[in-house]
Amino acid sequence: MNSISEIEDMADKNAIFKDIIKTRSLLWLNPDKRNREEMSSFPIDQNDMMAAAKLWERFAPFIMEAFPETAESAGIIESPLVKIPEMQKLLEKKGDFKGKLLLKCDNDLPVTGSIKARGGFFEVLHYAEELVLKEGLLQSDANYKVFASQRFRDFFRPYRIGVASTGNLGLSIGMMSAALGFSVTVYMSNDAKTWKKNLLKEKGAEVIQFPGNFSEAITRAREEIQKDPRAHFVDDEDSPHLFLGYTSGAIRIAKQLQEQGIKVDENHPLFVYSPCGVGGSPGGTAFGLKQVFGDHVHCFFAEPTHSPAVLIGLITGKMNEISVEDIGLDGLTEADGLAVARPSKFATRISKEVVSGVYTISDDTLFRLLAELKDTEDIFLEPSATPGLIGPSLIAQTDYARQHGLIMKNATHIAWATGGDLVPDKERTAFYRRGNAVLQKRA
Ligand SMILES: *Cc1c(COP(=O)(O)O)cnc(C)c1O
Repeated sequence: MNSISEIEDMADKNAIFKDIIKTRSLLWLNPDKRNREEMSSFPIDQNDMMAAAKLWERFAPFIMEAFPETAESAGIIESPLVKIPEMQKLLEKKGDFKGKLLLKCDNDLPVTGSIKARGGFFEVLHYAEELVLKEGLLQSDANYKVFASQRFRDFFRPYRIGVASTGNLGLSIGMMSAALGFSVTVYMSNDAKTWKKNLLKEKGAEVIQFPGNFSEAITRAREEIQKDPRAHFVDDEDSPHLFLGYTSGAIRIAKQLQEQGIKVDENHPLFVYSPCGVGGSPGGTAFGLKQVFGDHVHCFFAEPTHSPAVLIGLITGKMNEISVEDIGLDGLTEADGLAVARPSKFATRISKEVVSGVYTISDDTLFRLLAELKDTEDIFLEPSATPGLIGPSLIAQTDYARQHGLIMKNATHIAWATGGDLVPDKERTAFYRRGNAVLQKRA
């Protein structure tokens, strides 16, 4: 789909498509969402998700050994779920909504401070386990601390892991691969921040700066890495293992909600708002949540107005066969974690039936939310991580709750904060200033 007339035709027939082309912020409700019972059978299911949770448990002793900052959680990579009452008050002043707002603090995830620790770490660990099992190096009842041994590091050294990234995925893959002893090559797109590249080099990764955008970088990286028989390519556009890694957040959040005495059932709906790039992390999270909460959970994705990759894939039905450039968008956004032109093939097929809707958000709003959250709760997020915060007010303006017969005063809203902890002070200050400038312009 790249002929002008085809795009004009779409815009004529579909008002939302016109808004997309004009980079207006918007909210789209997904007409193809299905109830749990009516969902297609997907390439992965609840058993795979449970098996993924077990892999995390097996590797916990290794993670604790390799990353001492995880000692407190005994090698489990997890983040807090917290109330943000002051931010909620501020948001309610601007766009009234009902229910309680929580923040899922993946900005605080140990080691890499972003949601990519879930998907990225999982895929590397899964590959490492597969290799040693194949070579008969691991007894079935082994303590996985052995993965931190020199013997294992020597074993992994001849193997390469390759990935393309706008930043955070590269950091996660790079850090975990280096911890295991793998050689690792990260292809960075032109959006990647310098500090992320430097940090990766410090950890021992080979960083290849690619001049083009993420889609170009990943195409090139895939070609290069697949030439090497001892290399594994982590394919952000089509990886079941990244996806599975993200599903474990759902099981854990269910436990956190229970511990906090928060009900999710027919009379207590749960809304989850996830920042969306290729759609892997929000898709995996949503798939996992559906397995746990069925139709009582309502998942929304948020994308930048200039790079709504998953939205156009879903709206046109072309899935990963369309990119934002095909419809004339520049893909430019400060939200580097979301700056992707084309959606994930693997995740988008699943999201099509799982996601309740997608909304888009301007960079100004991302920065405004960043500054407001800092001011009200003293929590710092990177720009990519903030758009979930605006979800409840946006949904309140639609007919969604009435259509689904939901009791919104009993609702729990979770804004998934997807990254921020590793951002250096200098960048934090600049982001915060930009957010304040947006606020002043509005005042
Ligand atoms: C990667 C990323 C996302 C989106 O995840 P996708 O799997 O690309 O959809 C959101 N927020 C941050 C901070 C990220 O790094």
